[in-house]
Amino acid sequence: MNGLHPEPPALMPGKKHVLQWHILHRCNLRCTHCYQDDYAAECTHEQLERLFFQYLAFCRKYRRHGHINFTGGEPLLSHDLFPLMQLCEENGMTFGLLTNGTLLDDALAERLEKLRRLSFVQVSIDGTRETHDRVRGAGNFDKAFAGLRLLKKHGIQTMAAFTCHKGNYTELRDVIKAVRKNGIDRFWADRLIPMGSSREQILSTAEFRSTVQMLSKEHTRRCIRSRTEIHLNRSLQFLEGGNCYYQCSAGIDLLTLLADGTLLPCRRLPLPVGNCLETDLTELFEQSALLRDLQERRIPEECMCCPKAELCRGGAKCLTYAVTGDYHRRDINCYYPVCSASPKAAEPMNGGFYDNQKKQDPAMSDRSGHAAAPDGAPSSESIGGQQGISG
Ligand code: SF4
Ligand code: SF4
Repeated sequence: MNGLHPEPPALMPGKKHVLQWHILHRCNLRCTHCYQDDYAAECTHEQLERLFFQYLAFCRKYRRHGHINFTGGEPLLSHDLFPLMQLCEENGMTFGLLTNGTLLDDALAERLEKLRRLSFVQVSIDGTRETHDRVRGAGNFDKAFAGLRLLKKHGIQTMAAFTCHKGNYTELRDVIKAVRKNGIDRFWADRLIPMGSSREQILSTAEFRSTVQMLSKEHTRRCIRSRTEIHLNRSLQFLEGGNCYYQCSAGIDLLTLLADGTLLPCRRLPLPVGNCLETDLTELFEQSALLRDLQERRIPEECMCCPKAELCRGGAKCLTYAVTGDYHRRDINCYYPVCSASPKAAEPMNGGFYDNQKKQDPAMSDRSGHAAAPDGAPSSESIGGQQGISG
């Protein structure tokens, strides 16, 4: 456990709370970008049940509407997946499933169709067929879409997720086209958060901006033959339009449980809170100085002059942490002006990342006070929360 905290956490009763639960780390694929460095961790059925009831007790204590996103590894490899989903059904908890889609067949889709509290099934798409198969192995693009179509056939809400990086962001339009063609219900895209060696794959600010502009166009475009909702609700996407503000919910409305019982604020913010097989989840939650700090939702100094500061609060903490080692700083891809009153405005980010970006990126001129103003200001205000995150 990383530090005790004497005060109980202030949380809003009645609000949705999401647990992203990696019920196993085993997977049938070996994707090149995978976060996993250990595929072995797995709990027994009894341990998984114990963890479920810990989360249920936590939701009841704080009067939160609990929602679990089951993922892995590949969750469909686990014999415990359906029993756990059954526990959700029996205890009034909604749930989603985040899968690579390749193991879905008619029999599985039929079993999923019977679950009343299953909100959606999400499958990650990494680019065009060529890119997806290069990352995930030959034939897996077609298998992923075949899986999604089967789910649709069984009346299950489908979602496709796209993680943008330097190697695939130009394929966003093609991916959306494929998603629309296959009748997928919802689509969202977000930035790669580097873990380990993928740091050079992070989008520059100009690349990020052009990606969100493209997403924004697709978000508003009306298609005669497609009802796919293109979401524009991830961090900083409001800079290019839409009406959904996003605040990092890590450790507040979101927790992540790994297959060995480790509790994290978010899968993309790999700071362990403790292990739920050793200490009860509620106890970890109440005593963690890290979670208390995240719950304070502090606005980074560099954001103090921003008119959207109360709504955005600094962008994606995971990306900021991955690049700078300090999640209290503002998002590395934000192109609003840095507050010049902040002493941090003149400080280089860790490793000179900002400075390197500035060389490539005209949009980064905000560091010198010549900001590129966002083209589309959001018209109405709603805080976008965490949806599925691909495993
Ligand atoms: S300046 Fe800060 S609060 Fe404003 S949009 Fe950028 S990251 Fe968000
Ligand atoms: S911004 Fe990053 S750390 Fe925060 S909730 Fe979203 S994915 Fe998790």
